[in-house]
Amino acid sequence: MRISTKSVPLKSARTDLLVSLFVKGETPSVPPAFEPALKIAKSAGDIPSTFKGSCLLYPSGRSMAKRLLLLCSGEAKKLDAERLRRLAGVSANKAIALKAGSLLLHPSARVCAKRSGEDLGLPLAQGLQMGAYRYQAPSKEKPKPLSLKEAGVLCPEKGAPKGLTAAVSRGGKLGAAVCFARDLGNKAGNLLTPRKLAAEAKKLAGGKIRFKAFDEKQMAEKKMGAILAVSQGSREPARMIFLDYNPGNAKKTICVVGKGLTFDAGGISLKPGAGMWDMRYDMCGSAAVLGLFHAIKSGACKPKHRIIGVVPTSENLPGGEAVKPGDIVRACDGTTIEVQNTDAEGRLILCDALAYSKKTFKPDAIVDLATLTGAVIIALGHEVAAAIGNDDKWVHEAISAGESSGDRCWQLPLWDIHREQMKSKFADLKNINQGRAEGGGSISGAAFLSYFVGDTPWVHLDIAGTAWNQKSRGYYSGGATGFGVRLLADLLG
Ligand SMILES: [Zn+2]
Repeated sequence: MRISTKSVPLKSARTDLLVSLFVKGETPSVPPAFEPALKIAKSAGDIPSTFKGSCLLYPSGRSMAKRLLLLCSGEAKKLDAERLRRLAGVSANKAIALKAGSLLLHPSARVCAKRSGEDLGLPLAQGLQMGAYRYQAPSKEKPKPLSLKEAGVLCPEKGAPKGLTAAVSRGGKLGAAVCFARDLGNKAGNLLTPRKLAAEAKKLAGGKIRFKAFDEKQMAEKKMGAILAVSQGSREPARMIFLDYNPGNAKKTICVVGKGLTFDAGGISLKPGAGMWDMRYDMCGSAAVLGLFHAIKSGACKPKHRIIGVVPTSENLPGGEAVKPGDIVRACDGTTIEVQNTDAEGRLILCDALAYSKKTFKPDAIVDLATLTGAVIIALGHEVAAAIGNDDKWVHEAISAGESSGDRCWQLPLWDIHREQMKSKFADLKNINQGRAEGGGSISGAAFLSYFVGDTPWVHLDIAGTAWNQKSRGYYSGGATGFGVRLLADLLG
């Protein structure tokens, strides 16, 4: 969807749906044709005064706007970027429900007050783009294009914040990158296999972005025995994908690693049947990495560092050739691993990606995103991801990027005692701790990974709770959330 700013007087704003965004207690400003309807709504006591409260008005006589939605932002002091994103999402959904072809958001003077163009335009444009997202499910019917074709922000006549136009354009592109990641996440396991994921990544190459992918033969040459062990039970071959953005004269290299399990049945340690279809989402870490490169490609994110996206991708299925509980496998850095539970496979594909990245690219920092553990839902629920790492400064940079972008995280500890739990009698490491006896499944997952990053500053984001199933937010409506794209763009852009 096209998203832009318009600079015309309120009464000349031509649109199917004009949204008047105002704060509690403020009189909404409307074009003259809507004054009579506003008066009636006022006398009926229908002017909304709570966050997301709304009232639809129709014009009397000639009007450039077909209809007007009064949309209350709640109390001025509570209005932050997240609320602005949600309000924009609500507006996009309303426009779609009304089958409107165009939408214009008109923030009031008090909504604009003390906000820079970036503070206002970025969340509004993101919310519009994300709110209008609909997954096009495969169907015998022809795909119906969305009625909503364009959306925008109407610059206030007086005192439009500086940089609003650029921020709106950037926010729209960033929102599109999130929607791209959501589309990947929502695809069923047979529609998005490791090879298809590699093909999607390849489409992002061009300009300063280069693409490369190892097939299983190349992975065997690199001795990536952990990811190959996960993949051996499936007829679909695994891939190790690389997207390399090099802006030239970069001082630092940062590796962004994303788990790409395109379908996870658990392997021989089979998952229960109920809800297993959700395991299409086990590649949402990789979707976030590809989403970041989508944002780089569109210019929404302009990192000054060299950014290398690394995506280990595989299926995890039971079968006669599948890796068995107790099997010993060897990662590419020589570490031997006892596979105590074949459903803890994310860390196995990631450990080869992390060890290879560390040795080959010698990064200054690493961030990984993975739908790693169900335990993170017990610990933190669906609204916040876990951030765990070996370098407090880098962990806090990631958390604060999540705060400002709306992809929120909370730190969990990683101590030597957790790392000790991952040692095995039969190999260097085992891939799970003692389960219920020791607990802390999300921490032990990170503890396992920590052996493969050495001293490189590293933060692991466990997004198993936030990648799907989040509560509707106005800009989410079920399915994959694209969690991590905004955080990464904020952290690295
Ligand atoms: Zn698993």
